[in-house]
Amino acid sequence: MPELPEVETVARTLYPALAGRSLVRVEVLNPGTWQGAVSACELDAHMPLTFAGTGRRGKVLLVFFETDEFPDTGQGLCRPALLERGNDSAIRGLSFLLSLSCRLFAYPAGTAPERHTRLILHLDDGSMIFFDDARKFGYVRAVTPASLREWEFWRKLGPEPFELDDKAFGERFAGRGGAIKALLLDQSVIAGIGNIYADESCFRAGIRPDAPARSLCAADLGRLRAALVEVLEESIEACGSSIKDYRTARGDAGAFQNTFRVYGRSGKNCLVCGAKLRTAKIAGRTTVYCPNCQKA
Ligand SMILES: [Zn+2]
Repeated sequence: MPELPEVETVARTLYPALAGRSLVRVEVLNPGTWQGAVSACELDAHMPLTFAGTGRRGKVLLVFFETDEFPDTGQGLCRPALLERGNDSAIRGLSFLLSLSCRLFAYPAGTAPERHTRLILHLDDGSMIFFDDARKFGYVRAVTPASLREWEFWRKLGPEPFELDDKAFGERFAGRGGAIKALLLDQSVIAGIGNIYADESCFRAGIRPDAPARSLCAADLGRLRAALVEVLEESIEACGSSIKDYRTARGDAGAFQNTFRVYGRSGKNCLVCGAKLRTAKIAGRTTVYCPNCQKA
């Protein structure tokens, strides 16, 4: 699943294709790609729906519709909390859970769907957004305040990494028995982190990914928070990491994969100390770390 920086990049690069436009029809080509309490037919009854912006919560990509109560701010990126406000059954937007094979691209009127196009958003000027997903792991839902409350995945999402100070971040982990990396990957502890940014942030903080969280002191956790924010911000700046099929909504590859220090570098030499990087399995995920630089 793409992680926070990739989803943030898709949100930012998708917005220009939606700005000032309305959704007039959703065409579901693969029934499993549409999920949730509101069917695509029910959604049809509410159209046209004017786009108000895009956004992200954890690894969930969000598209917001304008309502009288919540007009378009013109800023592009919207805060996810907006979706939870207002009338329970009001259609507030769409949510996309992306897999690594998902792509969202805009196409001009008349373009034929591609082999892996699972869903099409038809806009009022005839342009279309294709949701392509070779492996069919991704899905789309219509968002109402009530549907968000009933969506267990959403309800359990932990806080956003950028919204925690050292104290609040430390409290998420302090005293817990699990490996620090397993907790970083747990979306209910903190939202948006996956294998890449867990490994890269542990390396930058000098913390072994298999260290039990309760063995880390406040200073260790403070370094980890700073490293995590730094690595996420650098990756957003680089438009994310392109491994497998990930592309921005403009079709460009991200560049952050070129600056990985440990992820995917198993058996290579540490860029800082030259030691051979080691591999472990933590929470079922391949983990790469430096036995020399990561001691805490
Ligand atoms: Zn090293």
